[in-house]
Amino acid sequence: MIEMSGLNDLLTNEPGKKLFLLGNEAIARGAIEAGVRVATTYPGTPSSEVGNVLSELAKKAGLYFQFSVNEKVAIEVAYSSAISGLRSFVFMKHVGLNVAADPLMSIAYTGVRAGLVVMSADDPSMFSSQNEQDNRNYSEIAHIPLIEPSNSQEAKDFLRYAFEISEMEHIPVLFRTTTRVSHQRGMVELGDIEKKDAVGFFKSDPANFVALPVNSMGLKEKLVKKMERLKTVSEGSKLNRIETYGSGKYGIITSGEAYNVMMDTVSKYGLDVSVLKLGFTNPLPEEMISKFLREHGNVIVVEELDPFLETRVRMIAQMHSIGTKIFGKLDGYFTFSHEYNPDTVAGSLSRIMGFDTRQVSVEIDATALPPRPPVLCPGCPHRATYYAVKRAVKMSNIKNPVYSSDIGCYSLGVYDPYNEADVMIEMGSSIGVGGGFSNATDQKVISFIGDSTFFHSGIPGIINAVHNASNVILIVMDNRTTAMTGQQSNPGMNVNGMGDPAPEVSIEAIVRAIGVQYVKTVDPYDLKSTLLAVSGALRENGVSVIVARRECAMIRDDRMRSKKEWKTFQVNPEKCKLCMNCVEKFSCPAIFIEGGKIEIDQNICDGCGVCAEPYVCPFKAIEEVQTA
Ligand code: SF4
Ligand code: SF4
Repeated sequence: MIEMSGLNDLLTNEPGKKLFLLGNEAIARGAIEAGVRVATTYPGTPSSEVGNVLSELAKKAGLYFQFSVNEKVAIEVAYSSAISGLRSFVFMKHVGLNVAADPLMSIAYTGVRAGLVVMSADDPSMFSSQNEQDNRNYSEIAHIPLIEPSNSQEAKDFLRYAFEISEMEHIPVLFRTTTRVSHQRGMVELGDIEKKDAVGFFKSDPANFVALPVNSMGLKEKLVKKMERLKTVSEGSKLNRIETYGSGKYGIITSGEAYNVMMDTVSKYGLDVSVLKLGFTNPLPEEMISKFLREHGNVIVVEELDPFLETRVRMIAQMHSIGTKIFGKLDGYFTFSHEYNPDTVAGSLSRIMGFDTRQVSVEIDATALPPRPPVLCPGCPHRATYYAVKRAVKMSNIKNPVYSSDIGCYSLGVYDPYNEADVMIEMGSSIGVGGGFSNATDQKVISFIGDSTFFHSGIPGIINAVHNASNVILIVMDNRTTAMTGQQSNPGMNVNGMGDPAPEVSIEAIVRAIGVQYVKTVDPYDLKSTLLAVSGALRENGVSVIVARRECAMIRDDRMRSKKEWKTFQVNPEKCKLCMNCVEKFSCPAIFIEGGKIEIDQNICDGCGVCAEPYVCPFKAIEEVQTA
């Protein structure tokens, strides 16, 4: 991201000025240029930086920003603002759109008054996601327009355009990026900042906004007509263009990040191609595509994940009786999985076009990077919780416990030495899945969920477990922030997305209100109390909840450093008996063995002191470093 001191540059109203921006920063700027008045999100990588920037700049930009409790609520808040006449922007990661899909499908019917753009940041290759679904498909299911940028400049410019399309037909627009588009940097030329109304007014119109079947019947017809009219707009859109290289012998149709990767191959091998680069991809410019097909004997569709374009290009060829040979995924030349890189695209294109990829030698650095599995940070309270739970389970002589986990930093509990995630599927699933195991087996079930995930979608699972008399222990790993995506606020905190003071919502009060009897709050750094709370829960029947509350180590580190209260720990070799418990069972990354001695890396030890507890080091060999 831009340095904090430079973030204000995103507010400058100097058209023509150039900034070197991350794709997500360019998107935030695009929202500001478009005069967005309401922006909402639930943080999720690869979309998170958009929210971080807008949260920081909201007051100065004159917009309202909200970290909503989940993506469904985020889209509902943005929708009501858009039908009150305020340009509204809602953004999320791809799986978040599954949560928001219910309102999205109906919002498409009712339409909007001011522009509403819904951004989905997809994650091909799953750098930080549980799947790599291709959310372009949502535009087809919902019958809404789809816009796909390829770089930072397009990310900004296309977002403004998306608002124009939205207001042209009073329809929500899907704006789809991928990790490489959201996280690439590039020079971006700024435009002017539009001035839009800051206060909306909602004029009642139940026939349009109350989705009863009697109304929705007609609204569906209207929606189909809107998309028909937008076909003409797509035909003439500046977002869809043709570039020719060399003789332009082969035709290539592409969009999004696939365009960038494909262009690397074209320039590297000097290929003779015409490229139909699409940015407005639903509805497709049918006439433009059929003309392009007629002009080329062979057309290759290059796109990541699903054959979204390819299927439609083949349909257009069939409908217009065009005999062009079309290559893509459906005939096996490209894969359905993972993001593309220049080597895989070059390999596929060479098989179709018959050029030799060995003509250009590729220098590969033979020095392989050592494998570096993800680990919980030094001082992370989740490590202490996992350690205590594992120990309590062993002390209680529980055989074959089942651990259901959830989405967050604590997902790393799946790794050695904790191994406390047998199942993890989606946000808020741990307790629902845990209830299912309780029904299906006689095994003890322990579910883990984070504070933000608890609020996002965990609560219905607890209600379900209580109401259906499940036997589940739910450990709420409350680190006082939405840590994994960059420490955004959530309803358990006393600050909101605008940076204003906000009421804290109590996790304990919620679970007690649901009917949970065994509710304990512990500090994970206090291993004894945590062990006792978990051991007690293991003796209970029904749903038990333990709130393991201790702020994220990253936040604590910042505070301790700024207050100059930083401390570290070291191992006293005279007391150490080399039992290996701290290395093998507790496994803080700051602790290691070298030359037959246990050492603590002073550069990464955050001074949490948990390893000095007798439950980790029974010989009291770990001591605070005393500074003079
Ligand atoms: S005090 Fe111990 S557990 Fe905490 S960060 Fe340092 S080495 Fe790791
Ligand atoms: S737990 Fe204590 S005694 Fe055992 S290896 Fe670590 S420092 Fe040494």
